[in-house]
Amino acid sequence: MSISVPEKWDIETDVVVVGYGGAGATAAITASNCGAQVTVLEKMPSGGGNTRVSGGGLFKTTSMEWRRYVEALCFGATGTDVIEEFVRNAMENKDWIKEIGGEVEPTLHLQVSYPGPAPKASFPQLPGWESMEKFGVKGPDTEPNKAERLWKLLSGNVERRAIRVMMSTPARRLITNEKDEVIGVAAEKDGRDLFVKARRAVILTCGGFEFNDDLKRDFLPCKPFFAFGNPGNTGDGVRMAQKIGAGLWHMTATSAQLGFKAPEYESAFIIRLFTERFIYVNRDARRFADEAKIEVHSIAWLTSIFDGQRFRYLNIPAYAIFDETARRKAPLSPGNIGFNQNLYKWSSDNSAEIGKGWISKGKTIAELARKISVDEAALEKTVADYNDGCKNGRDGEFGRSRETLTAIDAPPYYAIELWPCLINTQGGPTRDKDGRVLDAEGSPIPRLYSAGELGSIWGFAYQGSGNNGESLIFGRIAGRNAAAERSWE
Ligand SMILES: Cc1cc2nc3c(=O)[nH]c(=O)nc-3n(C[C@H](O)[C@H](O)[C@H](O)COP(=O)(O)OP(=O)(O)OC[C@H]3O[C@@H](n4cnc5c(N)ncnc54)[C@H](O)[C@@H]3O)c2cc1C
Repeated sequence: MSISVPEKWDIETDVVVVGYGGAGATAAITASNCGAQVTVLEKMPSGGGNTRVSGGGLFKTTSMEWRRYVEALCFGATGTDVIEEFVRNAMENKDWIKEIGGEVEPTLHLQVSYPGPAPKASFPQLPGWESMEKFGVKGPDTEPNKAERLWKLLSGNVERRAIRVMMSTPARRLITNEKDEVIGVAAEKDGRDLFVKARRAVILTCGGFEFNDDLKRDFLPCKPFFAFGNPGNTGDGVRMAQKIGAGLWHMTATSAQLGFKAPEYESAFIIRLFTERFIYVNRDARRFADEAKIEVHSIAWLTSIFDGQRFRYLNIPAYAIFDETARRKAPLSPGNIGFNQNLYKWSSDNSAEIGKGWISKGKTIAELARKISVDEAALEKTVADYNDGCKNGRDGEFGRSRETLTAIDAPPYYAIELWPCLINTQGGPTRDKDGRVLDAEGSPIPRLYSAGELGSIWGFAYQGSGNNGESLIFGRIAGRNAAAERSWE
């Protein structure tokens, strides 16, 4: 079934890339290096997407052994051939960054809230993790933000190649011919249709569905889910690909953590308590995990626990409970990550956010409980039990390690309401090892490719830095293979 081939094309090019984030830039650079004329369409007024507001973490692997780790994380959701190709290409990530003029520096694995020693991998209990190396793009010192450095490197390369990038130009649908080949994109520019012919192929790199309420409701394991990233990621690639018969995979997989959502901001705030003096509690004022061990991207396993009797999610919302010493330690939201970083500067001692009512305050734990509408006696008992554990060096409930146990005992006391918030979604059109989008029966849709978090390979659990790393890997694979297609004309 062809989708309304226009009588006249407004732009003609070899490869159309839809979405100008890390995957789109990588695909465009690679396709251009392979001799294709490339046009990039970006919906927002500027590029960068989630990539530019991310932590900027990247990875490479040093051995095919890493495939055992990825296989364990994917838990059967991703085929062996895709994983092998992914790992093989992951070995080249660092060299590729150098090839396009970047310098690299090592980075550590991030902990969500806790300042202790950084683990080497998200799940070091699984086999094969050792052959992963994490890194970021280095300097200049005038640009301390790693994600911004990554984006400057990628977009600088796109500009140097004189690749046409059209901002504020959302793709609306894919255009196919009578042979079901994807031959172009119908986009919108200044309220008018813009038809862009792709002589060789189209690459979808338009990110996830963090800001699409329907897709989140239908596929994610709990609700509500807010998001930290680019509001332009509304799942357009999922819908466009579905419309021409693509299969979907990994739609329930997320990279997510607890964050704060202020009604006046579309994106949520990342919350990191750089201290041990805190616990998380739920609406029953009970702790629900060893706070120091929650894997930074995997909150959905805890927030999707549903209480069928009371018919509500047990741990949504949650609250971080902390004291005056913790409050003075550092801003709860770091100013160098997430979409809000350029919109709001969190106060260094959190006083402005107390003033705004984002953080609740009580002279006693009982008063704090009343402020956040949880049971007073229950919260008093939870904090007292935790503090006893700190005194004894033993957390009887969750086994939080001795060195992470510091009492919450310096009044006044504070709480911030936390919700599951997406770092990103992983689902989207199914992709094969060559970056081709597959239809619902597993056959490639001719001339359609994808890369990045739209239909990511991470089908179950996720390794930090895995998404930016994947954008480079499948950006290169899709860019190369799209450029190698022969023109359909
Ligand atoms: C706060 C935060 C921290 C993170 N930290 C890390 C990290 O340290 N390491 C890591 O590996 N991953 C991290 N991630 C995840 C990672 O950043 C993303 O998964 C990755 O950037 C995805 O790249 P992408 O190119 O696929 O999508 P994006 O970079 O989001 O780019 C997609 C682009 O497509 C555009 N678009 C959407 N729809 C259309 C349309 N219809 N037409 C045209 N354009 C469209 C969007 O506006 C966007 O610019 C983080 C994410 C966030 C939000």
